[in-house]
Amino acid sequence: MNRTQSESLFAEALKYIPGGVNSPVRAFRAVGGNPFFVNRAGGSKIWDVDGNELIDYVCTWGPAILGHAHPKIISAVKTAAEFGTSFGIPNPLEVTMAKMICERVPSVKKIRMTSSGTEACMSAIRLARGFTRRDKIIKFDGCYHGHVDSLLVRAGSGALTFGHPDSAGVPAAFTSHTIVAPYNDFEAIKNIFAANKNEIAGIIVEPVPGNAGLYLPQPGYLEFLSEITKSHGALLIFDEVMTGFRLARGGAQERFGITPDLSTFGKVIGGGLPVGAFGGRAEIMDYLAPLGPVYQAGTLSGNPIAMAAGIANLDELNGNAESGNAYALLEERGAQLEAGMKDAAKSAGVPVTFNRCGSMFCGYFTGVPVHNVADAMHSDRERFKKFFHGMLDAGVYLAPSQFEAGFISTAHTAVEIEQTVRVAARVLRTL
Ligand SMILES: *Cc1c(COP(=O)(O)O)cnc(C)c1O
Repeated sequence: MNRTQSESLFAEALKYIPGGVNSPVRAFRAVGGNPFFVNRAGGSKIWDVDGNELIDYVCTWGPAILGHAHPKIISAVKTAAEFGTSFGIPNPLEVTMAKMICERVPSVKKIRMTSSGTEACMSAIRLARGFTRRDKIIKFDGCYHGHVDSLLVRAGSGALTFGHPDSAGVPAAFTSHTIVAPYNDFEAIKNIFAANKNEIAGIIVEPVPGNAGLYLPQPGYLEFLSEITKSHGALLIFDEVMTGFRLARGGAQERFGITPDLSTFGKVIGGGLPVGAFGGRAEIMDYLAPLGPVYQAGTLSGNPIAMAAGIANLDELNGNAESGNAYALLEERGAQLEAGMKDAAKSAGVPVTFNRCGSMFCGYFTGVPVHNVADAMHSDRERFKKFFHGMLDAGVYLAPSQFEAGFISTAHTAVEIEQTVRVAARVLRTL
């Protein structure tokens, strides 16, 4: 595959942009080699600057649930842009968006828009602390909530110890109120609550964690988190930046039947534009400025072009006579990919644990079941690297790390999934 143009662009980018990228995982450090540059995308495909065509299972990390450059979104963006790119004063599309979210996610009575998922999580944490008048937050090992100082914490130090910053530049004091627990572990959470009576403001969790690959909640785990927070006067915050409007019309909380106190969103609600949001119980949300004492703001929050793109995305996901039910289609494609990949791994004799929830998936190169980040670490990353590059050279783009989820869009056809599985079967035999 010729990547001459990408190589020279990357060399140029390295001169002006740290590591040549504006977000670290794009740099291919986990798989080796250099990233390629894309200047066009449509449906399930992306095209690099050298003209190579790839089937895309990254889908811009989630937002492109209808595939790239969906005509309804493109037309909504064009129309909105003609009227002005930003007003900094309320616009009608903000109200439409707020109503659409509240209607789809019944736990959300009020919602506030931000410009990224990071901001949404940062603000939800501040609000939970302000509302409960407590400082401590529980997060899970392997869950990512954006690059918020207090949430950039790896575990490693055990469930009951306080977190240590994951990044240089984050003072230890900023993470001293963050407690890290292993996901899917009931006892760890009980112990943390027992050791921190009346001090826990809330738990923030990806209901289906998708930032260390992908693994699912054990039966009863999310219900348990809901009950234990309630009984201790703490809040349950679902980070649905990745799962929201993807795993069901009402997100993971609809799929698993849980009612969190607060939720955060991003990715799909922006339809590919920079958007985030957080919302939940009205009495909590009313703690926000200008009504309440918790300050939160944003120059471009509720931006008309971003709202127009998000509204078109959510609207189209609703389905119609022509497109049918988007979520049933995504489930069908997901099941096809799962069955095919499992078969391919089996016949190649390569141990793979393939996890899937709806249109999110991850194949770990290990024979052990993966329920949390510690299990995920068993995967053979050297094998993943070879698999990744083998797939890429054959025209299939997977996320450039073993510890990222893959995404399917409604634009991925059954034929493309079949083709993907065929390529995978061939690449797996070479590992
Ligand atoms: C992507 C992501 C974020 C951060 O969103 P950004 O828009 O990248 O700031 C937060 N939480 C989860 C679960 C995510 O997947």
